Amino acid sequence: MSEAVRATSPLSLRDLDQIGVERLKGVGDRKRASLAEVGINTVYDLLTTYPRRWVDRTNEARLSDLVPGVEALVLVDVRSVTKRLTKNRKTMVTAVVGDGVARMTVVFFNQPWRERQLQSDATIALFGKAEVYRGVLQMTNPIVDMIGDRTGKIVPIYPQSEKAQLSTWEVAGWVEDALAKAAPRGMLDPVPAEVRTRFGLVGRERAFRAIHLPESMGEKEQARRRLAFDELLRVQLVLVGRKRAYERESRGIRHTIGGELVARFRSALPFALTSAQLRTIAEIEADLAGPHPMHRLLQGDVGAGKTLVAVAALLTAVEGGHQGALMAPTEVLAEQHASGIRRLLDGLVVQDKSGSLFPSRPLRVELLANRVTGVERKRVLAGLADGSIDIAIGTHALIQQGVDYKSLGVVVIDEQHRFGVEQRAALRDKGSAADGGQAIVPDVLVMTATPIPRTAAMTVYGDLDVSVLDELPPGRIPITTQWANTPLMEEMVWADVLSEIAAGRQAYVVCPLIDESEKLEVASAQETYDRLRLVDLVGLRLGLLHGRMTSIDKDATMDRFRRGELDVLVATTVIEVGVDVPNATIMVILDADRFGIAQLHQLRGRVGRGKHASRCWLVTTPKEDADPNVAEVNPRVEALVASTDGFHLAEVDLDLRGEGTLMSTSQKGRSDLSLASLRRDRELVGLAREAAFEVIDSDPVLQRHPELADELRLLFSAEDEAFLFKS
Ligand code: ADP
Ligand code: MG
Repeated sequence: MSEAVRATSPLSLRDLDQIGVERLKGVGDRKRASLAEVGINTVYDLLTTYPRRWVDRTNEARLSDLVPGVEALVLVDVRSVTKRLTKNRKTMVTAVVGDGVARMTVVFFNQPWRERQLQSDATIALFGKAEVYRGVLQMTNPIVDMIGDRTGKIVPIYPQSEKAQLSTWEVAGWVEDALAKAAPRGMLDPVPAEVRTRFGLVGRERAFRAIHLPESMGEKEQARRRLAFDELLRVQLVLVGRKRAYERESRGIRHTIGGELVARFRSALPFALTSAQLRTIAEIEADLAGPHPMHRLLQGDVGAGKTLVAVAALLTAVEGGHQGALMAPTEVLAEQHASGIRRLLDGLVVQDKSGSLFPSRPLRVELLANRVTGVERKRVLAGLADGSIDIAIGTHALIQQGVDYKSLGVVVIDEQHRFGVEQRAALRDKGSAADGGQAIVPDVLVMTATPIPRTAAMTVYGDLDVSVLDELPPGRIPITTQWANTPLMEEMVWADVLSEIAAGRQAYVVCPLIDESEKLEVASAQETYDRLRLVDLVGLRLGLLHGRMTSIDKDATMDRFRRGELDVLVATTVIEVGVDVPNATIMVILDADRFGIAQLHQLRGRVGRGKHASRCWLVTTPKEDADPNVAEVNPRVEALVASTDGFHLAEVDLDLRGEGTLMSTSQKGRSDLSLASLRRDRELVGLAREAAFEVIDSDPVLQRHPELADELRLLFSAEDEAFLFKS
């Protein structure tokens, strides 16, 4: 009975994944091996191998619509093919193609096999740039897709593999057969009907059909939207599920907010908080007052004033008799934070609740870094353990074995991208001892100065809450950024540096980034340093900073620069994060085109920190084969010149690079987004997240949504969807 029911019930993705491709018409051993080579083993794999293009025969792709010099796609029939050798012994295959109205010549160099591939009368799609050559339209080395004898108004074009010997029409044929075989049982749709209606999503089966065999481009778009939603929903279910599981399973401290200590700190500030600071502090305080441990990301551009927000959170812990810890990625930054925060908190007193003779004492801030050793280290460790240290600032030394806290209440992690997940977890484990089996977990605030777009944040950091500091304190003088891309302009750059230093300011020179080798990078930094000292910046006091120096030497150089004993700091990207020298007002970034947008923006943030106007020069060297009459294009450099808004730049970055780089660490394999795009589908990401919250909050481990749960099990690793197996 149950067998019979199963055999007629709608097909789930798991069912499709249990049917091997050999069940399809025309897939024998050889083709099965070819498909396996490109990762297609099951019908599920095949149906989620989406076309990479669709050609609308009716109103696109006509030869008469081609515009010389513009890339386009045309659908044509092969009329004739010839092959010959050119003067310099390259093979040249020439095909004449036509679409019934017009004709064109297509030329292939060094692709002798095209002669065999392009049979007379074959229908092919060509993608390339047509040019007029001797009065005739011609394409050179276009991308060719063999369409075969497919009918239908819209032709799907699949990724094909020369190596695995798979053609788009074979794939199309198998997909069609798979859809036909699935039709009698139909496909299961695990997304609640109410959600589908509300978000205007077509049914799953219809979507699978229409993405492969659309009747119109509009229908294909509807299908894409639905299938992309499914991908995003699954990712969000995992993230939201994990977030809720974490909240459920760990007990936090209910901090008291609105206390006197924080009020005194705020009223002692020489400036008013920005409204973004007020808003994020309120968001953090709401978390701190709640029963669950906070797990929040604070995004804010360089100079947005994250430190104050962090300190307000740390003080909230101290107010209730707990401790705060701030962890920085490097020793230099930890020290910088320690001295800055000591200054901010100078004069504050705390109530001593340990019953000592003195009911109040000065608030105590201590540094714990690797260089704190011997007696001093013992003193700090003892203070952390007995609670007499209120705020600890340090590097990962803060979470090492043997560092115990009396009652760690709030942990702030600065510059999150330098910390691994395990380190974050280790820090959380420094919370007070378990109580009734449930550990008491400190509240965690992660800060990052690398803004990422909202949709990306929802996906990459989807298990965190996110606060955004999207406003700079008033009175900042915006940094002027210019692009120097000729030798003449580079001379102007050095003249500019000289005049800035004559006016009493200081300069950074950032050396070319060399990804492959730190050794080469150091050598090139040394070379730049020597050249500047002997040629371009003669007479100035130069310092060199790079990653192969000992941290003692690095710090010594940094200190000299900070004290004004050096005019110019020549450095590799080691200066990227957090360094603060307000008198430095000019930055020169060499070979700027080797850096990414986010990195350039971070580097630039080292200037513009004082009361003087600052400048940033992005220097690039023209390519040797560049045409001097054609303006050079460099979208990344141009974006930096046009904007100083980190959030805007992050959006530009996403547009330029696509999401691959963003997603690479968090999504792998089958859970990948293949149709959905964080760039194109910004709206859809929000809807998927909304739906995920609704589902998880009404049904935390998906007991009442078994089909959704099954899909997550199928497509994600056990580790990813661990929340399903809990409780
Ligand atoms: P970041 O977000 O890069 O960590 P910081 O916290 O280091 O920024 O702040 C940068 C500078 O701005 C500091 O000198 C800080 O004192 C100052 N600052 C922060 N908030 C304000 C404010 N509301 N008004 C004026 N200056 C502020
Ligand atoms: Mg900072």
